[in-house]
Amino acid sequence: MTIESILAKLVSFPVLGGESNMSIITWIREYIESHNITTTLVPNEEGNKASLHCRIGPEVDGGVILSGHTDVVPVEGQEWTTNPFKLTDKGDGKLYGRGSCDMKGFVACCLAALPDMVKANLKKPIYFAFSYDEEVGCLAGPELAKAIKTHYTETPKYAIIGEPSLMEPIVGQKGIYILETYVNGSAGHSSRIKQEVSAIHEAMRLILWLENKMNQLIDDKRLDERFHPPHSSIHIGLINGGIAPNVIADKAHFYWDLRTIPMDDTQTIIAEFEAYCREREQELQKIFPDFKIKTIENHPPVIHLDTKKTDDVVALVKRISGNSKLNTVSYAAEAGQFAAEGFQSAICGPGSIAQAHRANEFIAKTELVKGMEMMNKLITELSSSNFQ
Ligand SMILES: [Zn+2]
Repeated sequence: MTIESILAKLVSFPVLGGESNMSIITWIREYIESHNITTTLVPNEEGNKASLHCRIGPEVDGGVILSGHTDVVPVEGQEWTTNPFKLTDKGDGKLYGRGSCDMKGFVACCLAALPDMVKANLKKPIYFAFSYDEEVGCLAGPELAKAIKTHYTETPKYAIIGEPSLMEPIVGQKGIYILETYVNGSAGHSSRIKQEVSAIHEAMRLILWLENKMNQLIDDKRLDERFHPPHSSIHIGLINGGIAPNVIADKAHFYWDLRTIPMDDTQTIIAEFEAYCREREQELQKIFPDFKIKTIENHPPVIHLDTKKTDDVVALVKRISGNSKLNTVSYAAEAGQFAAEGFQSAICGPGSIAQAHRANEFIAKTELVKGMEMMNKLITELSSSNFQ
């Protein structure tokens, strides 16, 4: 199959993050196994979703994992001019379709290069690692990375996560954590604001504490200039509570996210916030004994990526991508999750993140060509007995 026909097939599975991906993963599995490669599925508890991994090449240490996700973001409410789940060539050098860029383009490169990988005399192996539910918070990445580590007797050394980066090596990614805070106050007539505890007023105090915390980190010069912005950010994106201007709100809650640079520890920030919440509770329970603040996880944290310039994976990705400029990103990806399992990791893949998640998503055909060039160079590298 050509890369375009593989990509068209992948795009035709409308598997959104959070949904069962068995249709697309079964097709991918059959395709890989038709090339005499054994695959392993890593199913979720309900058995309606699965990641897949496989090894091509010898059972020796030091191989390279190629990682991609099989889910895409929704198209609802977006103005598509073509069927998003039918790869469309309008003759303008671009292939349109949901996931064409993020990130079925890369998965298609892996699959299109498979026959050459099988034929090559690889001295070090290549692994495919295809996950689900990446778009709803990189939920399957940690288990997949762990499964690869425990399943094989040998240990891969590198992981390349093919998120769209215009083939530029990405070596840093902020950690991301999404939380929800609930404040339980007491209702009453607005004139009694000093006798009751307004959940809104207290929520505001907590929000200001969070903003001040971010500013304090900046003032303390906790900066990592590789990132834009160079500091950890704390942002409250949704708030509600209360029913009327003359009624004290007994309930308020807000959603917030924390994007941390590698030097800042998410758990330390949360612990400080929790300590402040306990302080407020003690104070206000004197007025209203049931006053309570509760913070829960909206999404499990997605760990940061902090690959050092001197790590071997950087040299490898520079060589095979043909790009030497290193970059960082502020979006969530599975790279940090693979790094957490001890694989040297970098993000590098065809297509631009600017085209991801929007209407009329596309991948330029030239990007697919570059993606295939990277696969070919990787095969050449791994076929050399000098490869480290
Ligand atoms: Zn993606």
